[in-house]
Amino acid sequence: MQKGQIEVQTQNIFPIIKKFLYSDHEIFLRELISNAVDATTKLQVLASKGVYSKELGDLTIQISVDKKNKTLTIADHGIGMTEQEIKKYLNQVAFSSAQDFIKKYNDESIIGHFGLGFYSSFMVAERVEVKTKSYKKSKGVTWQCDGEPEYIIDENDKKDRGTEVILHIDDDNKEFLEDARIEALLNKYCRFLPVQIQFGTKTETRYEGEGDDRKEIKEEVDNLINNTAPLWKKKPNKITEEQYKDFYRELYPMSMEPMFWIHLNIDFPFNLTGILYFPKLNNQFEVQKNKIQLYSNQVYVTDEVKEIVPEFLTLLHGVIDSPDIPLNVSRSYLQSDHNVKKITGYITKKVAEKLNSLFKKDRPSYESKWSDVGIFVKYGMISEEKFYDKALKFVLLENVENEFFTIEEYKEKIKGLQTDKHDKLVVLYTNDVNIHDSYLKEAKSKGYDVLVMNHVLDNHFMQHLEQKDGNVVFVRIDSDTIDNLVQKDEKTESVLSEKQQEKIKSIFEDSLEDAKSKLQLKALSPDSHPVLITRPEFLRRMQEMQNLQGMGGSGMDDFYNIIVNTNHPLVAEKLLNMKSAEKKGNFAKYLFNLARLNQNLLQGEELTDFISKSLEFIK
Ligand code: ADP
Ligand code: MG
Repeated sequence: MQKGQIEVQTQNIFPIIKKFLYSDHEIFLRELISNAVDATTKLQVLASKGVYSKELGDLTIQISVDKKNKTLTIADHGIGMTEQEIKKYLNQVAFSSAQDFIKKYNDESIIGHFGLGFYSSFMVAERVEVKTKSYKKSKGVTWQCDGEPEYIIDENDKKDRGTEVILHIDDDNKEFLEDARIEALLNKYCRFLPVQIQFGTKTETRYEGEGDDRKEIKEEVDNLINNTAPLWKKKPNKITEEQYKDFYRELYPMSMEPMFWIHLNIDFPFNLTGILYFPKLNNQFEVQKNKIQLYSNQVYVTDEVKEIVPEFLTLLHGVIDSPDIPLNVSRSYLQSDHNVKKITGYITKKVAEKLNSLFKKDRPSYESKWSDVGIFVKYGMISEEKFYDKALKFVLLENVENEFFTIEEYKEKIKGLQTDKHDKLVVLYTNDVNIHDSYLKEAKSKGYDVLVMNHVLDNHFMQHLEQKDGNVVFVRIDSDTIDNLVQKDEKTESVLSEKQQEKIKSIFEDSLEDAKSKLQLKALSPDSHPVLITRPEFLRRMQEMQNLQGMGGSGMDDFYNIIVNTNHPLVAEKLLNMKSAEKKGNFAKYLFNLARLNQNLLQGEELTDFISKSLEFIK
């Protein structure tokens, strides 16, 4: 047996880092500033433990661009490095001081973990210069490397403590010498870092005095990038409602006020803080402009959070911050990451708890927000098993009278009258009270209750409830005749003989032409309509769901039945007793068209004809 150690040639590592480690060149800035922040945080920790007792001084991290010399500099006043430390941490790829430090000082707020961040500077620089002086008593050191494995170390006479990283930007990456580009990057990645970051100065305009005396005063002020104490890091019980709203505006200027929010704060079994805001959805899927932002120790990571929060929660806004979320996120990594799975579960639970408490604390107010919250809850129930069970307590159903019920309450309400012969509860609904007006009136006369289900998600939602519950069926009120919506055993007898019914059938078949395959004769109550159009629930719903997914054409109208009520006097008496075949045909057609009109199915030329014929009739 032989044992050995795999040898890695550094010559080979550089190109790999450049090419594969980071897909995005721009993140070098995030990495270097994170290092500067870490160096500063470490110094603060040392000071707080009494290990460092001199003045801390101004700890602001300075970013500067020198276009002429083609350099970008990141300068901090953190702990700096001694020559040994430079050799240990900068010359050895993938060597981080973070673990040592965390162990030694029991402080978790260090960003770096992997010991690779620093090397991202070679993605944009042909030469990297590090001038540093440790907080310990030692000489300043300069380290230089041009991306080849060879480096140079020299003493320098740097006076102040800290590190300057000077990037000599290569020709392919000139964009990083533009102030605007750097400022945009700083605003993206560093907006909430815990150490103050300054990028030069900016001109601010102030106004003094009133009216004619009003003076414009221009001032050169520090261009400070970040809010070092973002709201999500503060204790929830110390934060006012106004502060939560202000922070929302800070994150998403120009957006509508959020409805409510959840402050996430947990440190076991993983570390996570954040604030999730519930936007007003107005019964619509929002075009996702305000995305949840993901941070790791206040460093911005991404706003693609699909892998971290359950999909339905991506409708929310706000921030999530967890050092347990790796900075260098790749999708497949996140999906399999153990911490990420736990985080997902935790957030789902928190959101359910919040909704439940809002429901229990003030039901009327919860109901008034339902059009904004409802989609979110329904989406969650469809897509997350765990959320489904929790949400059963606070998901609401709204009926046409604008009354709200939990599922349990509603089942209790319709039990009996809307229980069919198979002992199932038949939940009736409409997606449009205007179009279904006549069906609604019939349902009401029977004493039935009707829900409003008018969101694109509702088909899925109902389907899901049916499957999970096993005891309810949803039926749209135009899917069958009123006597058949809730199928009981009773049957209305036909007033016509078999022969008479045959006659009616052939009259309608002749005048319906193409549509005759949809014809059905039924003995309904004489008060019901003479001819009625119904759309079978199952086929219609399938069709709508396919359409939603972009499958299938507009063939919606193909799924309907034409029901002729053979007990209606206009059919059983008037039509049957008409003398000429032509009159019969016209009358049957007219009744059919009335039924279509009732369903908005009569359009164009046919509608015009219908109207002139009607005018003819009443002349
Ligand atoms: P990481 O940040 O994950 O530890 P890096 O490659 O970014 O890995 O940095 C490697 C090490 O170099 C750090 O752990 C730190 O010890 C040292 N270092 C880098 N930048 C600085 C700096 N500005 N000040 C002090 N030490 C630094
Ligand atoms: Mg780092």
